[in-house]
Amino acid sequence: MEKVILVLNAGSSSLKFSVFALPAADEMRAVAVGQVEGLGTAPRLKVKDGAGERIADAQWDTSEVASHAQALQRIAELLRARFQGSVLAGVGHRVVHGGPDYSAPLLITQEAMTRLETFVPLAPLHQPHNLAAIRAVQEVQPDLPQVACFDTAFHRTQKMVGDLYGLPYEYYERGIRRYGFHGLSYEYIAATLPAIAPEIAGGRVVVAHLGSGASMCAIDNGRSVGSSMGFTALDGLLMGTRPGNMDPGIVLYLLQQEGLSAKQIEDLLYKRSGLLGLSGIGNDMRVLLASDVPRARLAIDHFVYRISRELGALAAVLGGLDALVFTAGIGENSARIRELVCEQAAWLGIEVDTAANEGGGPRISRPGGKASAWVVPTNEELMIARHTRKLLAL
Ligand code: ADP
Repeated sequence: MEKVILVLNAGSSSLKFSVFALPAADEMRAVAVGQVEGLGTAPRLKVKDGAGERIADAQWDTSEVASHAQALQRIAELLRARFQGSVLAGVGHRVVHGGPDYSAPLLITQEAMTRLETFVPLAPLHQPHNLAAIRAVQEVQPDLPQVACFDTAFHRTQKMVGDLYGLPYEYYERGIRRYGFHGLSYEYIAATLPAIAPEIAGGRVVVAHLGSGASMCAIDNGRSVGSSMGFTALDGLLMGTRPGNMDPGIVLYLLQQEGLSAKQIEDLLYKRSGLLGLSGIGNDMRVLLASDVPRARLAIDHFVYRISRELGALAAVLGGLDALVFTAGIGENSARIRELVCEQAAWLGIEVDTAANEGGGPRISRPGGKASAWVVPTNEELMIARHTRKLLAL
């Protein structure tokens, strides 16, 4: 019987999943990709097969599917019926926080779960959902091996000097340090560069993961040496609904002068800022690019400005720049944003090739420049599936 791996990525109100078939020798391929969105409000399931053809599209009643566990049960029924001739050999999870220690994927045991629970305060909006998905699978199939793949792990190669904040040292020991996120995406890109762009794979590369969450990572010879995200995924670039890096004094001001509660500030920083907050229109870059409202333009300009600043900082960490790589929803799909960023990066020796950029790359800079620019689609799910396969020796 053919073996398959299930990959799960549980968010606060969503559950994304992919099924990967395991051909004997070569690369795995996704045979089903789906997501449940609107958990808690109006849950809706959408599933496609490996070729992008629709398998399922269903609206569920909140009274019947209220939790991740219930959604998972429904997904399992659907997948069992579809993949009757296959055997589920393992589950790989995206787990946002691996804390200071975990620099590699981890086979789930009771002891590991206890340790991962201790990281919940470090990522209270994500970690509980990630762990709930692991528990939900354990309840139904306790013997099925599960693997946790961390968003922080790829960054554990960074030097301690870059991990520090300038607080009293005891805070570092208590876990207040720069962890960095989007690690599975960066790891996938680093693993893909030798095939797509061998001339830069061993060099000094900055990858810009520009999705609804956005960050940048400095990669030197395939290893992370710096990241725009820090203790939480709030740091760094302007994002869809998050402000990115800002003076911590603002938080004090909001607390002390404006009388906001911690919960209100959390809501402001995670859900009401960023492109949405600045434009007043929305957090979808497509909408902003199509708009002629002045604040939409302002939001885009600030988005690009912040990427440029961070690029300068990460180029300094690398001691120079050989290549800039764009990835994720905005990075892969918006030639306009890439063009604006590359224009600002002219001082680093990037000369954008307009036709190649419009065409989507992979190389989007003219030959001969001191540094090159690229578009490389990311695939965090495949990265999780690869880790799971390797760790379980499938
Ligand atoms: P995440 O996985 O963080 O939810 P994605 O990487 O899928 O996000 O990116 C989603 C974002 O990509 C959307 O919010 C949208 O702004 C942006 N996006 C997708 N397609 C385009 C496009 N053609 N032009 C500009 N932005 C796009």
